[in-house]
Amino acid sequence: MTEPNLTHDIIISGGGMVGLSLALTCANQGLRVALIEKNLPPSPSLNDGQYSPRVSAINHASERFLNSIGAWQEIPTQRLCSYQKMHVWDGLGSAQLNFTAADVQTGHLGHIIENNHIVHALWQCVYQQSLIDLYTSKQIESLNNTAQNASVNLESGECLTAALIVAAEGKFSPVRQFAGIQTNEWDYQHQAIVTTVKHQLNHQNCAQQVFLESGPLAFLPLKTRDGANNVSSIVWSAKPERAKQLLAMNDNDFKKALSQAFEHSLGELEHIDARFSFPLTAQHAQSYFQGRVVVVGDAAHTIHPLAGLGVNLGFLDAATLGEELTRAKDKNIDLAHPHVLRRYQRQRKSHTYVVTGLMEALKRGFDQQGASSVLVRNAGMQLINKSPILKRPLILAALGDIGTALPKACQPLTN
Ligand SMILES: Cc1cc2nc3c(=O)[nH]c(=O)nc-3n(C[C@H](O)[C@H](O)[C@H](O)COP(=O)(O)OP(=O)(O)OC[C@H]3O[C@@H](n4cnc5c(N)ncnc54)[C@H](O)[C@@H]3O)c2cc1C
Repeated sequence: MTEPNLTHDIIISGGGMVGLSLALTCANQGLRVALIEKNLPPSPSLNDGQYSPRVSAINHASERFLNSIGAWQEIPTQRLCSYQKMHVWDGLGSAQLNFTAADVQTGHLGHIIENNHIVHALWQCVYQQSLIDLYTSKQIESLNNTAQNASVNLESGECLTAALIVAAEGKFSPVRQFAGIQTNEWDYQHQAIVTTVKHQLNHQNCAQQVFLESGPLAFLPLKTRDGANNVSSIVWSAKPERAKQLLAMNDNDFKKALSQAFEHSLGELEHIDARFSFPLTAQHAQSYFQGRVVVVGDAAHTIHPLAGLGVNLGFLDAATLGEELTRAKDKNIDLAHPHVLRRYQRQRKSHTYVVTGLMEALKRGFDQQGASSVLVRNAGMQLINKSPILKRPLILAALGDIGTALPKACQPLTN
């Protein structure tokens, strides 16, 4: 039960995938939540042929978490594209990596889903949860972080107080900045171009990625109502000068460049949607909490999208923090007690550091274009591809199955 001098137990600023999932997991455990989102919730299209350019590869751990809070069930099945295969190859060499669901005795490796459908599904659950008070089209103007409690003033004039404030506003989080949490940042010197393409051949539920001289290019399979499965979302990361050229091309020239880069793997490209681009930078909060403010999701860490792990890390943050806050509530401990927030930080920061380091190593490894580097890289890929012992842990890590360190909501069901 909320302390009498507080309006809420927790204030969450940011109603993206991570903030919404945290609000639900906390409210489902009896905590009173104020959720502040500066925009209106999305109303995604279900029309065939209309896809949002922002998609995410959702792994097993995230699927289980979304299931546990009731959101997975709200995602329209016609927009859930499961994939059973992954094909990765080196555009400069001859090596490739092939992962299949059968390699780890599972039915699928993950799902490609448009972000706005995930967010919409989460909102549907939030609307049904009476312990969540909504402050949409609103944002925090100022924040007071004291030993007794934390309070915020909204631009609209309301004042809210809680034991804990969560920054879930993504990479540029103002609450993280209000709290004085510093970040380490580095520029990948890449722009990501995203769009949706219709191709001649069926993608066969295979997620594909080629590492080109200019950066990685991914084709992520999307589901079509007629079963043709000839639509994919692409993420093409390229150095800024190449990205500028690609964005300036007319549709026909871009299709040609894309087909060539992808080695015509899915036949002719028949249609291409509008292109959008994002600068790719990495960022990691030096501390995951300060006083009564804690950071989750992209507010805590932003990584290169090449392995499709960003929001999967964010869901692990939400599930872990939710679990720690529930434990504190059950033991009647202050939700912002340093012991509580340190336990969250210890679990999440170390894992995120490892993943960030791996992304950096992978990106740098594929940035090397000298003949000897290509040789070593290709030998390494071939070795992994032929060895089930080396492959299995890689696939399990991509599925989010990182062992007992997983919060309960993300763990596989045991018989
Ligand atoms: C090109 C690209 C491809 C990617 N592909 C994948 C993938 O395949 N798999 C994967 O796991 N990850 C992927 N990611 C990463 C993933 O998109 C992010 O990790 C994820 O969106 C982070 O979610 P979030 O909720 O933390 O933040 P955001 O999605 O940034 O959400 C933040 C929310 O806070 C709100 N907000 C912002 N400021 C305020 C404010 N002042 N007050 C109130 N509300 C505010 C915003 O409106 C938004 O709703 C990709 C990223 C990129 C750039």
